[in-house]
Amino acid sequence: MFSLHKTLGGVHPPQCKDTRDCPVTSIDPPKQVRIPLNMHIGAPCKPVVAEGDHVYVGTLIGDGEGLYAPIHASVSGTVTFVGTETLPTGQTAPVVEIASDGKMEHDPAIAVPSYTTKEEFIDCVRASGMVGLGGASFPTWFKMRAPKGKEFEYLLINAMECEPFITSDFRQMLEHTERVVEGVARCARALEIPAACIGVENNKPEAQDALEAMIKEKGYEDFIEVLRVPTKYPAGGEKVVIEAATGRQVPAGGLPADVGCLVMNVTTVSMVEEFFRSGMPLVSKVLTIAGDCVANPGNYEVPIGISVHDAVEATGGLSKDPRKIIMGGPMMGRTISDIDCPILKANNAILCIEDKAILPDETPCIRCGRCVRACPLGLMPFAIDAAARAHDAVKLDEFAVMNCMECGSCAFACPAHRRITASIHEGKGIYRSEVARLTQPVKGA
Ligand code: SF4
Ligand code: SF4
Repeated sequence: MFSLHKTLGGVHPPQCKDTRDCPVTSIDPPKQVRIPLNMHIGAPCKPVVAEGDHVYVGTLIGDGEGLYAPIHASVSGTVTFVGTETLPTGQTAPVVEIASDGKMEHDPAIAVPSYTTKEEFIDCVRASGMVGLGGASFPTWFKMRAPKGKEFEYLLINAMECEPFITSDFRQMLEHTERVVEGVARCARALEIPAACIGVENNKPEAQDALEAMIKEKGYEDFIEVLRVPTKYPAGGEKVVIEAATGRQVPAGGLPADVGCLVMNVTTVSMVEEFFRSGMPLVSKVLTIAGDCVANPGNYEVPIGISVHDAVEATGGLSKDPRKIIMGGPMMGRTISDIDCPILKANNAILCIEDKAILPDETPCIRCGRCVRACPLGLMPFAIDAAARAHDAVKLDEFAVMNCMECGSCAFACPAHRRITASIHEGKGIYRSEVARLTQPVKGA
C-alpha cells in the first residue's frame, strides 16, 4: 500500500533520547491545577463551573462553539478561581483553578460512548476534548471532517517523534501497542478511510517491530502498515510525513485533505481509543521530563494544568539550576521564564538544561547555502531571514514566509549561528500586519 518516498533537506541533531527505556510512571496528585481554557487552536472555551463547585476527574469545566475542544477537570476537588488571567506565556485566557482533594475520583457521569455513523463518531471525539498531542493542539474532531468535496484516501499516523530528548510517543507505542493499533483501525473504519500507515523512524526498531506484530495478530495487514523511515529531523513535520508516505506535496497554503490525507499523532490516536474504551476524556498527559538539571529524568503521566514547577518537583526536582527551561523539544519547543506555567494538552516535554544552553553569538551570513539544503520545504531561509530583518513584507511574500513550519533545521545547519527561525517567526508577524493593513476597510468609503 505504501512505499517510502524521498523528502527534501533535514538535519541530524544529537538525539539525546536517554529516557527511551524509562517506563511511564504517574506522579502523586498536585495540591492544585490551573487549567487555561484556550489549550487548542480556535476559540477559547467558556467556563461552565463556578467558584465553590465540586468537580471530579473528567467533569466538563469549559465548553465552546465552532473550532474548539471542550476542557475537563484533571483532578477531583473544589473550584477555587474562575476568571481571566495573563498566563506566564503572556497570553490572556480564561482559567479555572481547582484545589485537589487528593482523591482523584472519577466523575460518576462518565460512560463509554457509542456511535453508529461517521458523524456520531466525530461528535464523540469532540466530546473527548482531544487535540493534536504531538504539539499541534488542533481539535481532532475538526480535523476528522474532510472539507466539502474532498475525501480522505489515507490515514497517516505520525509516530516519528523526531525531536531530540522526547520519548513519550515511543513509550506509548511500546506500552500500549494494542491500543495504538486498535485506535488506528477504529479511526480508519469510522471515517471510511481505506488505508492507514504508521510512520516510525528507524531509531525506534522495537516500536516498529511491536506494531507490525500487533497488526499481524489482529489481522489488519490488508489496511494498516508500518512505514520504516530513515532517522532525519524533521521527519515528523506534517507535510514531510505526507510526502514520505505518499509522494504527494501539500500545496502552499493548503491542507493535508487537499492531497487526500488525514494525519494524526500516534498518542492522539491511542488516547482516542482509550476514550472509546473508558469514556474518560483527555485529562492527563505523558511528558518526557529530561535535561542535565533534572534529578530523575523519565516519562511521567501528569494531570493537565499542573505547573511546570510542581511536575518537576513531583519527579524528584532539579539537581542543579538550569539556564534554560524548554516546554517541548530543543528544536521547536518554547523557552519559558516562569516555572508556574501550566502543562497544556499538547505539551510533551519539559527540558531543564544547563549544558549548551547559551548559543554562540551570531555572525554575518556567508551565503554558504547550508540553510537552503537543510530546509525540508525547499524554502530559502537566508532570504526570508534578510527580508524579516528589513521588515520587507513584499520580499517576505515572495519567499513564501507563511509556508515555513518553523522546524529550526535551517538555524541548526547555519555555521554563522544566525537566529533564522526566530527571525522567520517575527517575519510572519510583519507579513500578517501588512496583510491586515492592506485589507482593512477604508474609512468613509
Ligand atoms: S524553519 Fe522554515 S525555513 Fe527553516 S528549515 Fe524549517 S521550514 Fe525551512
Ligand atoms: S546557513 Fe547561515 S551563513 Fe549559510 S547561507 Fe544560510 S544563513 Fe547564511
